[in-house]
Amino acid sequence: MNYRHAFHAGNFADVFKHIILARMIEYMKTKDKAFRLYDTHAGLGMYNLASEEAQKTEEAQAGVGAVLAGNPPKEVTRLIGPWLDAVRDAGEGKYPGSPAVAKYLMRKIDRLTLYELHEEDHAVLAKNFADDYQTRVLHLDGWLAVGAHTPPKEGRGMMLIDPPFEDGKDFDRMIIALEKARKKWMGGTMALWYPIKKREHTDDWLETLKGLKYSDILNVELYIREPRAIGMLNGCGMVIVNPPYTLRDELNLIMPWLAETMMAEKGWGYRIQDLSAR
Ligand code: SAM
Repeated sequence: MNYRHAFHAGNFADVFKHIILARMIEYMKTKDKAFRLYDTHAGLGMYNLASEEAQKTEEAQAGVGAVLAGNPPKEVTRLIGPWLDAVRDAGEGKYPGSPAVAKYLMRKIDRLTLYELHEEDHAVLAKNFADDYQTRVLHLDGWLAVGAHTPPKEGRGMMLIDPPFEDGKDFDRMIIALEKARKKWMGGTMALWYPIKKREHTDDWLETLKGLKYSDILNVELYIREPRAIGMLNGCGMVIVNPPYTLRDELNLIMPWLAETMMAEKGWGYRIQDLSAR
């Protein structure tokens, strides 16, 4: 396990992922009943953008930095507002990872379960959530948790699956995890983040997902440059199974602005696709 998220915190991929996560949490909150959020690959929870790791890559500047310096249209400001509040309230030089965004937006009745396998990162995460009655921090393999810990006793909720994609096998693991989770928790919302280097590769994987013939599955992608070359993170995507019914319209408003704000080179853009069985 070599991947350390501290090098990448607040980059374009984090901004994309966390804005969507926040929209999904906001939707969950429109119903009175409590929900649970599983974050199977949680990271540190909170990041220091002045750290040696973050300073080495300076990825946050073109990510969260560009958002903070931007001037989005009114509708986008409203939609990204909850996530931006979490970023601003984290304080100058800090960037909230998915656990911290979730914790910031959740109500007192909602619950958060975090998995982090890296020993040092788990220790930091556990410290960040020490004495938090809403949150369980587990030093466990997030892939195993997908089947073992679902469905949540709250009945409703969602799962963010955000692995490091270190060994090329995480695309396959995602499909296995999804199928496993669906057997136990058909109604759960699952959000799967993935990297885009060469588009042909991810398009093949999306075809496999389409072949599962789920009734409600949405894909959204962001490219900061033409997704052609292997070896570079040119974009990223999120597949959402059982998405909030409001999400597609929200993404139609958010994505044009987000793609333009995150763009690095020509060939940038976005795509929103329905992968549901017809
Ligand atoms: N979700 C986080 C966020 O948005 O702030 C970022 C997570 S980062 C992309 C992936 C994390 O998964 C790393 O911290 C890594 O140590 C951890 N990890 C790798 N393999 C794991 C496994 N099998 N189970 C749980 N965590 C794992």
